Amino acid sequence: LFRLLPFVGQLNGARGAFANMAPSVAVVNEFLRRDNKPFMSQGNRPYVGLENGIQFQNLSFSYPGHDRQVLDGVNLSLPKGTTLALVGSSGAGKSTMADLLPRFYDPTEGQILIDDRDVRDFDPPSLRRAMGIVSQDTFLFNDSVRNNIAYACNRATDDQIVEAAKRANAYEFIVNLPHGFETMIGDRGVMLSGGQRQRLAIARALLRDPEILILDEATSALDSVSERLVQQAIDELSRDRTTLVIAHRLSTVQNAHQIAVLDQGHVVEIGTHIELLNKGGLYAQLYSMQFSHQEHPVGL
Ligand code: ADP
Ligand code: MG
Repeated sequence: LFRLLPFVGQLNGARGAFANMAPSVAVVNEFLRRDNKPFMSQGNRPYVGLENGIQFQNLSFSYPGHDRQVLDGVNLSLPKGTTLALVGSSGAGKSTMADLLPRFYDPTEGQILIDDRDVRDFDPPSLRRAMGIVSQDTFLFNDSVRNNIAYACNRATDDQIVEAAKRANAYEFIVNLPHGFETMIGDRGVMLSGGQRQRLAIARALLRDPEILILDEATSALDSVSERLVQQAIDELSRDRTTLVIAHRLSTVQNAHQIAVLDQGHVVEIGTHIELLNKGGLYAQLYSMQFSHQEHPVGL
């Protein structure tokens, strides 16, 4: 069911490249070239850390060569240490929003500000090093569990790797694999379930400990035990971290400080879970749909 791709080079598209990026200029240049993007200005201010938060200001975006506005005048604010969840139907523009933050694309209009400074002012590799992404296409290598967790963090000690696995709710299943942390996964080893793959990806992100987290949650339905384990791991990962999460499961959304509902590139509602439920608008509608068809999430 899941293809495990052995090399970064086989990925196409910016999302795949970033999900697996090593923090190096070479990789960054690689995906810029591969996507045939127009020249993107490169600031040279080193990114040293977040003080107040991130602002999405009047953000509009069309994909190069397409007329349609995928995002249209989006205004959102993500204060440091909080979680902003994006929900909405498939095609609403959620993943595109998440791609603009690490600058896979730049907005057609408007800007993203980090502590009042345009993201384009920053040196891109230093900015991307501060960001971690756990994406829909969770990416595992044909390598040991250990190396998959330690990817992009190759100086991690065994203790740190075990600690990350425990916090990601992955330790139990790992030690029950034939060779524990040395078990090979992928084409040459054991295949993992969707929930296990997600928890490995979360362990990897915990080890990297990025200041800013972008979480494009998997759409694949998980059984309820698996869902609970993944949810706990996500809570652990996003706690006190500046997090932009594209949520497909209501459990993730409920704890977010803010939920923005996107519809055709517009923010149509914003609030907490309770506020939006009480409002009885699109969120409440998506919510009841998800509950009545729990095994077929509607892209929320
Ligand atoms: P969501 O994550 O909310 O499902 P996306 O941000 O992935 O939505 O997509 C928003 C819209 O942009 C969709 O209509 C989609 O078809 C379009 N789109 C996404 N990626 C590209 C691309 N690389 N080129 C052109 N159009 C795209
Ligand atoms: Mg998406």
